[in-house]
Amino acid sequence: MALRHCAGNFLSPRRSAYMTPHSSMSIFARQMNMEAQSVAAHLNSSGFIRSQGLIGGKWTDAYDGKTIKVCNPATGEVITNVPCMGGKETNDAIASAYDAFVSWSKLTAADRSKCLRKWYDLIMAHKEELGQLMTLEQGKPLKEAIGEVSYGASFIEYYAEEAKRVYGDIIPATLPDRRLFVLKQPVGVVGAITPWNFPLAMITRKVAPALACGCTVVIKPSELTPLTALAAADLSIQAGIPPGVVNVVMGNAVDIGDALLASQQVRKITFTGSTAVGKKLMAGAAATVKKVSLELGGNAPCIIFDDADLEVALKGTLATKFRNSGQTCVCANRVLVQEGIYEKFANALSSAVQSMKVGDGFGEGVVQGPLINDAAVQKVESLVQDAISKGAKVLVGGKRHGLGRTFYEPTVMADVKGEMLISREEVFGPVAPLLKFKTEEEAIRLANDTNAGLAAYIFTTNVQRSWRVTEALEYGIVGVNEGLVSTEVAPFGGMKQSGLGREGSKYGLDEFLEIKYVCLGNMN
Ligand code: NAP
Repeated sequence: MALRHCAGNFLSPRRSAYMTPHSSMSIFARQMNMEAQSVAAHLNSSGFIRSQGLIGGKWTDAYDGKTIKVCNPATGEVITNVPCMGGKETNDAIASAYDAFVSWSKLTAADRSKCLRKWYDLIMAHKEELGQLMTLEQGKPLKEAIGEVSYGASFIEYYAEEAKRVYGDIIPATLPDRRLFVLKQPVGVVGAITPWNFPLAMITRKVAPALACGCTVVIKPSELTPLTALAAADLSIQAGIPPGVVNVVMGNAVDIGDALLASQQVRKITFTGSTAVGKKLMAGAAATVKKVSLELGGNAPCIIFDDADLEVALKGTLATKFRNSGQTCVCANRVLVQEGIYEKFANALSSAVQSMKVGDGFGEGVVQGPLINDAAVQKVESLVQDAISKGAKVLVGGKRHGLGRTFYEPTVMADVKGEMLISREEVFGPVAPLLKFKTEEEAIRLANDTNAGLAAYIFTTNVQRSWRVTEALEYGIVGVNEGLVSTEVAPFGGMKQSGLGREGSKYGLDEFLEIKYVCLGNMN
C-alpha cells in the first residue's frame, strides 16, 4: 500500500523531497523543475488537471474537506491536492453507479459501443496532454507515457468493438418439449482498484470491458497517481457516457476498499496491485460473495539459452527489465543465463545499461525516470545490499543516482543466486540480477521456484526447446524471443499467487458477465 499523506498527516518521503530548499538544488534540478512547472501550468490552464473526485457525474470534494497532495516524483513538487475520500463518498459513488446501471445496462450494445468509441477518440486526440500529466505524476519518460496512453486507449477501442459480440448460446435440449438457452448479462456495479505504475492502462483494461458489457464502475486509482484517472474520467463524460456510469473516488484506501467490499450492490471487485492487498480483497469479498479478479505481483524469469541470438536476447531483456524503470509487474525480475553465453551476455547487457540516460521524464533522450517514492528506492537498496552481502557482484550501477531524490542507477548484478532476496521478491526497480544455469531442466526448476506466475521470457533459436520450455513454465504469459508482450487483443493475467482471471482480449469480457441459463418448457 502506498504511504498515506493526507493533509494534516503528511508523512510521505516525497514531501521531504519537496521541501529541499531551492538554494541547495543543482542547476540541473532547477531546470528540471522549470520544465515540469511549465507543463503543469499549461495542463492546469487547459483544464487537464482535475482536483476533485467524480460521483454521479458531479465533481466532488471529500465531505470533510481533507485533501492529499499529489507530487511529481522527479522534483518532489506538489502538482495539486485531491480529495482524501473515504467510506461515505464511496457509498455515494456506489449508489450513483447502481442507479446508472439500470439505464446503461439496457442500452443496446451498439449504443454503448458508440460511447466507448467516442471516449477512445477523445483520449487519442489528447494523448500528448495525458502523457504529460502521467509523466508529471508518475515520472515515466514522456515517450513511454504517451505510449501508455495509446496502449490504454486501445482497450477502449477494442471493447467498443467487442461490446457487440457478447453472444449467448442455444443448447440442444434433453427433452422434446424443452428449449435451452444461455444469456450473458452484466454483473452489475464494479469496484475497480488500480495501482500507480500504469495510471491509465490499468484503469481502461478494467473499465472498458465492464462498460462494454453494461456494468457501471467505481474506480479507485492510487493516491499517488489520481490525476490521469480523473482526466480520463472527464473525457468519458465529454464522450457522452452518462453520469454515474464512471465514478472516481480516491484517498483512504482501506476505507474505500472496505466500503466496496461491504456493499451488496457491488457485484464485482477487479484489482491490480500487490499480492498482499489482493489477498485481503479476496478474503473481504467472501462476505458478500462477489466475483473477484486479481492482477497481482510477478517475479518474471527471463531465460537466455546458449543458442539465443545475442542481439535479440539483449533487446528483449532491456525492454522487459527497464521499461518504466523496472516498475512493472511483468518486468524481468531474474535473468537466468546459460553458462556458455553468460560472459558475453553480461558484458553486452552491462554496456547497454551503462549508456542509459537517467533523468526527469521530460528530458531529451531520457529513458529511465525516477522511482515512484523513497520507499521504493529503499526497497531496491536493501535487495541489492542483501545480494552483495551474500556474494553477488555489481557490474554496473548499484546505488542511488547522483541526481538525488528517487533516482536510482540502472544496475546489472552478476553471481546472483536463487535463494537471495532479490530473486525471491519483486524488485520493482532498474536492477537486472543475472543467475547462471547449466541445463534446461535447471532453468525450468529455477524459473518455477516462486509463488508468482505472471510473465516469463525465453530466448532461444531452438524451436523444439521454445515449445518444451513454454509448456513447462508455470506462468500465465510467456514471451518467446520477445520482451514486450502486452496487447489489448491477448489475455493478460497470472497463475499461482499472481492472480485470478484475465484482462484484455475476448476473455476479458467474461470477468464482467453472469451466465444465465434459461429453460423454456411446454414447447410442443
Ligand atoms: P498496492 O499497494 O497493492 O496498491 C494498489 C491499489 O490498491 C492502490 O490503489 C492502493 O491505494 C489500493 N489499496 C492499498 N491497500 C488497500 C486496501 N486495504 N483496500 C483497498 N485498496 C487498497 O500496489 P502498488 O504498490 O500500487 O502497485 C504495485 C504492485 O502492483 C506490484 O506488486 C505490481 O506487480 C502490481 N501490478 C500488477 C499488475 C498485473 O497486471 N498483474 C499490473 C501492474 C501492477 P493507494 O495507492 O491509494 O494506497
